[in-house]
Amino acid sequence: MTKVLAVLYPDPVDGFPPKYVRDDIPKITHYPDGSTVPTPEGIDFKPGELLGSVSGGLGLKKYLESKGVEFVVTSDKEGPDSVFEKELPTADVVISQPFWPAYLTADLIDKAKNLKLAITAGIGSDHVDLNAANEHNITVAEVTYSNSVSVAEAEVMQLLALVRNFIPAHDIVKAGGWNIADAVSRAYDLEGMTVGVIGAGRIGRAVLERLKPFGVKLVYNQRHQLPDEVENELGLTYFPDVHEMVKVVDAVVLAAPLHAQTYHLFNDEVLATMKRGAYIVNNSRGEEVDRDAIVRALNSGQIGGYSGDVWYPQPAPKDHPWRTMPNEAMTPHMSGTTLSAQARYAAGAREILEDFLEDKPIRPEYLIAQGGSLAGTGAKSYTVKKGEETPGSGEAEK
Ligand code: NAD
Repeated sequence: MTKVLAVLYPDPVDGFPPKYVRDDIPKITHYPDGSTVPTPEGIDFKPGELLGSVSGGLGLKKYLESKGVEFVVTSDKEGPDSVFEKELPTADVVISQPFWPAYLTADLIDKAKNLKLAITAGIGSDHVDLNAANEHNITVAEVTYSNSVSVAEAEVMQLLALVRNFIPAHDIVKAGGWNIADAVSRAYDLEGMTVGVIGAGRIGRAVLERLKPFGVKLVYNQRHQLPDEVENELGLTYFPDVHEMVKVVDAVVLAAPLHAQTYHLFNDEVLATMKRGAYIVNNSRGEEVDRDAIVRALNSGQIGGYSGDVWYPQPAPKDHPWRTMPNEAMTPHMSGTTLSAQARYAAGAREILEDFLEDKPIRPEYLIAQGGSLAGTGAKSYTVKKGEETPGSGEAEK
């Protein structure tokens, strides 16, 4: 019997289902590049429902049970006694979400003797040791594009929140105050600033497009320069060297995946080269910056603010220094798991499972690794060089 093991975040503290604010969500059929949103044979949920938590089960229960598949859903993922680690050795498929990642380290992959497919319900498969997955011939797939715009929208909001000093101003009101001088002592306009984006893929492009109307100077760093027409349309300046770019920006948005080249990209040395008071927005992965270097740069005033929804490890421990550092606009990992995004990535997980169970090829754009090497989107966005692996998943164990 095929077994699918899904690791999802816990239900809302006030119970499941939550009381929904809206009755429906807009129907989106295509992504900005013209590709279609997921096209499973069917779905057993109403778009807009909470699907990403344990009771939501990504809306897969009815379908998988109808196929005679054993479906185990848990949020218990830490340590050898967790449901995740106990069920893993007999699982054929693992589904995990970056928001509540089940870290598939090389050790765990070694123990997962039946594992054939690791699905990321969302985008970003750095919680899977891709070298180990390749060594064991495990397919890694994610629901490409499902939440790229969700994240881009949030990053623009976070950038504005930092530059306009929104959160401290809001806190003044909450505390019964009206001190405008305090509220504005760190508030600026975004207009005219130089904003850099690292990684002009699906999220990065969407951020650049959304920032254009703000009248900012847009610069970007990316593995491959974008076509002339895109650069001209958005007024972009390309920096082949990220270190040269960060010297000139007033704000930078990280939108590249976590892999060896982006691990701790922002450390003390790089932060010291930035303009004093520059802002950093990072919804990519927490480990693309050096955790303590960010705290030091905020404390010294070298950077003006830091906002992100990605931490390391996840969930972040209660004493994580980013919870208490100054001039932050942090949230739990949530920008890519809006109810709107969940409808797409749950349908995408279903589409991938349908293909897997029926022995059909998985959409190439969903593939990160297959047949022992990077594939599809993974081949364009990640690197897996022996000895240069992203240390991410291994460190989580510590
Ligand atoms: P994507 O694959 O479309 O784009 C990533 C881009 O980064 C690619 O164009 C790639 O060429 C570029 N890149 C890779 N390495 C680089 C490097 N060293 N320097 C510069 N550019 C580099 O992926 P996407 O959909 O835009 O997502 C990007 C990342 O965002 C994901 O891998 C994930 O880590 C993160 N993400 C976060 C959330 C969230 O909820 N916070 C949700 C989705 C994705």
